[in-house]
Amino acid sequence: MKKILAATLSIGMALLAACGGERAGEQTDTVAEAKTFTWKLVTSWPKNYPGLGTGPEKFADMVEAMSDGRLKVRVYGAGEMVPALEVFDAVSQGTVEMGHGSAYYWKGKIPAAPFFTTVPFGLNAQEMNAWLNYGGGLELWREAYEPFNLIPFPGGNTGVQMAGWFNKKIETMEDIEGLSVRIPGLGGEIITRAGGQSVTIPGGEIYTAMQTNLVDATEWVSPYNDQALGLHQVGDYYYYPGWHEPGPTLEFIVNEAAYNRLPDDLKAMVRVAAQAINQDMLNEYTARNMTAMEELVEKHGVDVRPLPDEVIAGLRDVTEQVLAELAEKDPLTKRVYESQMAFKEKAMAYHAITEEAFYDARRPEPESGYGE
Ligand code: CA
Repeated sequence: MKKILAATLSIGMALLAACGGERAGEQTDTVAEAKTFTWKLVTSWPKNYPGLGTGPEKFADMVEAMSDGRLKVRVYGAGEMVPALEVFDAVSQGTVEMGHGSAYYWKGKIPAAPFFTTVPFGLNAQEMNAWLNYGGGLELWREAYEPFNLIPFPGGNTGVQMAGWFNKKIETMEDIEGLSVRIPGLGGEIITRAGGQSVTIPGGEIYTAMQTNLVDATEWVSPYNDQALGLHQVGDYYYYPGWHEPGPTLEFIVNEAAYNRLPDDLKAMVRVAAQAINQDMLNEYTARNMTAMEELVEKHGVDVRPLPDEVIAGLRDVTEQVLAELAEKDPLTKRVYESQMAFKEKAMAYHAITEEAFYDARRPEPESGYGE
C-alpha cells in the first residue's frame, strides 16, 4: 500500500511540475494568444427578431465568453449594414466576416442552394441535421459555397412550419388555381405550377398584404412568429402541415480568409458555437410554438385545419416533377438532389417504424389536439 501511495504521490508531483512547466510555456506565447479579433455579423432578420435573430446574438455572446473576449462578434440586423438579401455578397466579398440567413435566398446564384435550407416534402429538422452532419450534406454545401469564398455552417432550425393563413377554404387542387399566396422559395414555384400565383413579400409587410387582400393566403413561420406578426387577425383559416418547409435550416456563413486568420482554438469555438445555436434554435421553437398555438386556439379562437389529403397528394406530385426538372438543369444540383433524395428514402423507411410508429402509439385518438 505504501509503495502504491508513494507512486501515486510521485505521479501527482510530476503532474504538478508538468503543469508548472506548461504555464511557463504559456507565458512565452502571451503576445500571440492575446491577439483579439472583432468581427461583424450581418443578418437577414430584423435586429433581435425572436428566434431567427436572437440565434446569432446568442452565438456572439457564446464565442466572446468562450474566448475570454479574444473573438468579439458584433451582430447587425437587416438593413443596418446591408439589406436582408445582400448578406451573402457582403460576406463573400469580405466586407464583413460573417452572416446569418437562409441558403434558399441565394438560389439565383447557386441553383442547389434551396436543398440546404428545405425542400417541399423533404427532410424534417432531425433528418436535415443527420443528412448534413452524417450523410454528406455539409460537404456538398461547402463545395457549393467554396467558389464564393464562403464556409457554411448549419445555424438553426424552426422545425416543421405551418402551411399558413388562408382567407379561402382549400378543399381540392382547383382551389389553388388563381390563388395568390405569399410563399417564397421552391414552395412558391410549386404553387405557381399548380395554377396559383406566388408572391415574395418581406415579413414586415405580410400583415398589410393580407389585410388589404393583396394576397389570399400567406405562409410565414409557425405559431410563435406568426402570432407575433398578428396574422391571426387577418387570416381566417390556419392550415397545416407546412409541406413546403418541413425543417428549414438556417445558415451561418463565414468569409474563408477571415476564418483562416483565426488561431485553431478560435476556429473551434466558431464551429462549436454554430452547432450549439443550430440545436438551441430548434429547442426554442419547439417549446414556444406549442405555447403560442395553444394561445392562438384558446384565446383567439383560431380555426386550425389540415390541408385535405387530395391537396397534399396533388402538391406532392407537382413537387416531384419540379425537383426532378431542377436537378436536370445543373450538375451540382443533380448531385445534391440525388444525395438528399437517397437519404430521404432511408429516413422514411426507418422513421416509419420509429418516430412515426411511436407518435401513433403515444396518441390515444387519431385527431389533432386543436380545434376538434
Ligand atoms: Ca416559411
